[in-house]
Amino acid sequence: MLNLKGKTALVFGVASEDSIAWSICQHLAEAGCNLILGYQKRFMSRVFQLKNQLSAIQSFYPIDVAEEETTAEFFHEWQKEMPGAKADIIIHAIGFAPRECFDRHMLFVEDGPINTAMTISAHSLQRVMRHAMPHLSPNSSTITLTYAASTRHVPNYGIMSIAKAALEAWVRELAVRVGEDGHRVNAISSGPIRTLAASGIPGFSDILEHVERNSPLRRNVNQDDVAGCAVWLASPLGAGVTGQIIHVDCGYSSTMVPDSIND
Ligand code: NAD
Repeated sequence: MLNLKGKTALVFGVASEDSIAWSICQHLAEAGCNLILGYQKRFMSRVFQLKNQLSAIQSFYPIDVAEEETTAEFFHEWQKEMPGAKADIIIHAIGFAPRECFDRHMLFVEDGPINTAMTISAHSLQRVMRHAMPHLSPNSSTITLTYAASTRHVPNYGIMSIAKAALEAWVRELAVRVGEDGHRVNAISSGPIRTLAASGIPGFSDILEHVERNSPLRRNVNQDDVAGCAVWLASPLGAGVTGQIIHVDCGYSSTMVPDSIND
């Protein structure tokens, strides 16, 4: 068991008990880490219920990373309640794209939905980190969540594949910018997991089935698999790792032609 006693994590992206961020919260708490949650207002009642299950959650505040002001407000509220508080870990587990980004022919998706998907799913990493910087302890670790459609085609993932490619570029660029001060930035590229966000992707069940059949481990990952990697990256054991996209996908991304063609 890794020891994160006395550390504090800012966690963005808890919407339900299926959220990858929720599993990360549970694993960080188990390691002794204190948690501050940033939640989206539309999930407030669920997040309130979850908060009561984990005493490591010290406080929680609303945030909409699409907006500069409400992002600033999150940090303002945190610092107002806990003056001078510092964070050691940031979990950015945020993704959203309007329906049109999945349903419409890629050539014809309009600027509005594209901009929304890019702002929330990619550029928000920069926004959150910029606001967090003055409140980070030395040698902090920031972890975001991505998907392999950033580099290879996945049916129906649409504009989110563009957003994930941009998010991964942000990881590399931000890692260089903040690295001279000892801060680290990495992404975990998770295999498919049934969550609220994933339920918006047409044909998601077929993807799950395909990966289960064809990944080297012959199964899908779950939230705990991803959380395990996040806790490692958050801990001093990950001290030499930054700017990386780490696949937690039962090995699926290491294959091209599946063995199942022999069946
Ligand atoms: P989820 O729906 O539980 O989490 C998505 C979170 O994004 C929610 O908590 C939601 O409130 C938050 N969010 C969306 N728009 C926001 C905004 N404007 N401001 C603040 N928060 C906002 O689903 P999840 O699968 O746990 O997703 C977490 C991350 O993991 C996402 O980046 C997703 O793309 C990524 N991911 C998921 C899978 C999967 O198959 N589930 C695979 C790879 C990567």
